[in-house]
Amino acid sequence: MKTIGLLGGMSWGSTELYYRWINEGVKEKLGGLHSARIAMVSVDFQEIDKLQHSGEWEQAGEVLSKAARRIEAAGADFLVICTNTMHKVVPQIESAINIPILHLADATARRIKERGMKTVGLLGSNFTMEEDFYKGRLIEKHGLTVIIPSAADRQIVHRIIYEELCLGIVKAESREEYLRIINRMHEEGAEGVIEGCTEIVMLVQQKHTDIPLFDTTAIHAQEAVSVAFA
Ligand code: GLU
Repeated sequence: MKTIGLLGGMSWGSTELYYRWINEGVKEKLGGLHSARIAMVSVDFQEIDKLQHSGEWEQAGEVLSKAARRIEAAGADFLVICTNTMHKVVPQIESAINIPILHLADATARRIKERGMKTVGLLGSNFTMEEDFYKGRLIEKHGLTVIIPSAADRQIVHRIIYEELCLGIVKAESREEYLRIINRMHEEGAEGVIEGCTEIVMLVQQKHTDIPLFDTTAIHAQEAVSVAFA
């Protein structure tokens, strides 16, 4: 079993899910008292959030690159960055370390294609929904068609992530908003919807809708376990 590197804390509520689900995956494979070999560094999200929202991505990338170097030094064989948004700085982190990064958009695209789908909706931070590091990768590298919410709905999705979910706040009325937006993207042709932010699963789970959901937290955790045994 390889050692999984986790770069977490963005937010810690979703990193907690990664930690649990990776350990459960290893237990399922090996049984008994087996648990995952993990090297983790968890950053202070207040600092990252401030850098993101003031556009200081290089500085944010530097903070994460330092954390990634510590994870590598602790013996990780590969790196899992426990947030979709911060995949924006993957090239910077990649150039700072010598272990591979298990890219979340690639893992998610594989699942979508396994299900035979071509057109998907994307929910996440504004950065994830609007920029090329994530949406563009799904389109150009994986040949998917990606539908995003309207500008007004993107603001709602983004606000709920940073003002509620990243603080561990789950509100029924926010779930209704997300379900409305998911339904709208479905009407526009999305065969399934990517929960492209690692906290969204706290709010909307598959039991809340018949539209297929791709929970990136679960997908990333499951892929990490597969790679650990590859
Ligand atoms: N965890 C979220 C994501 O997957 C948002 C937090 C962040 O900005 O990193 O995008």
